[in-house]
Amino acid sequence: MSTPTRIWTPIDFNRDGKQAGSLRLPISTDLSAYGWIPIPVVCIKNGSGPTAVLIAGTHGDEYEGQVALLELARTIEASAITGRIIILPALNFPAVEAGRRVSPIDEGNLNRVYPGEAHGSATQMIAHYVTSVLLPMADLVVDLHSGGRSLDYTPCALIRPSVDKQLNDRLMELMRVFGAPISYITDGKGGGGNTTLPAAAEQFGVSVITAELGGGATLRAYGKELARSAVLRLLHHIGVRSDGTLPQPLETRVMEVPGRDFFLYAESDGLFEPSVMPGDEVTAGQHAGYLHSIERPMEPPLSLIFSASGLVACRRFPTLTKRGDCLFSLMRDVEKGART
Ligand code: ZN
Repeated sequence: MSTPTRIWTPIDFNRDGKQAGSLRLPISTDLSAYGWIPIPVVCIKNGSGPTAVLIAGTHGDEYEGQVALLELARTIEASAITGRIIILPALNFPAVEAGRRVSPIDEGNLNRVYPGEAHGSATQMIAHYVTSVLLPMADLVVDLHSGGRSLDYTPCALIRPSVDKQLNDRLMELMRVFGAPISYITDGKGGGGNTTLPAAAEQFGVSVITAELGGGATLRAYGKELARSAVLRLLHHIGVRSDGTLPQPLETRVMEVPGRDFFLYAESDGLFEPSVMPGDEVTAGQHAGYLHSIERPMEPPLSLIFSASGLVACRRFPTLTKRGDCLFSLMRDVEKGART
């Protein structure tokens, strides 16, 4: 982390007031030799106090968080806060602009390249900026996701468990304040493992709350409203913006994804016909859906079976499926233990 970032910004993060502008991601292309790509940023500051960094658009095709943060950026005034709020509603801006999970510049998945590289590709430079500039300033990071084009999620908050008991207790508390109907504890084994933002933040002892708010590359009202109210509750909780009128958080159901058995993958190509939806409870051995061959019309569809019991966290959203695609992931209750 000793190499300085190549990203620069006219925003002064130490100045009081509300500033809107961009982080400037350098590019050098045929038509823009000395150019930069603008990554929108809003900094709201009033005196000294905690710093909250609010992120959406880590994946470009996940919209509930992007729109919730745009609304919060427009409505929160510096005079109403104590401390600092840094809002990045479209962190991987090239991916957001393209409506894609990954960046069209380098095919980079921002939540798979942490801690990033100062002189890396466009996506690696963004991750490095977050790690080297934003995380050292942050007391709390909220990273708002959804399922994107390929998945549909039941709304939930996520934390990465920490071996540091104090940090772990703080994360559990923040998860309850977030107030999603379901919260899930994951070390990222089914996804990005140690290459994610929460993994990078752990080294700084910074709390990161992630959320999955919907999916299918559309905007769900419930997910957007959950993102808005949860962020406001978190800001109230850490003392940046007090608001006694906020709705109390729902009691959250704490869950986990214990292993590979909790994922159901396509073993062949085909058309996916799911028989259950996100939020449904299923049992091991239960029928999960069909995969219909597109090449052999007379062949009976492949019957899909769950190998574990639990709650459906997400399902594949597109119907057209390739061998190896994730069709479902399941969660089970932490407090009640295994139910398989
Ligand atoms: Zn995402």
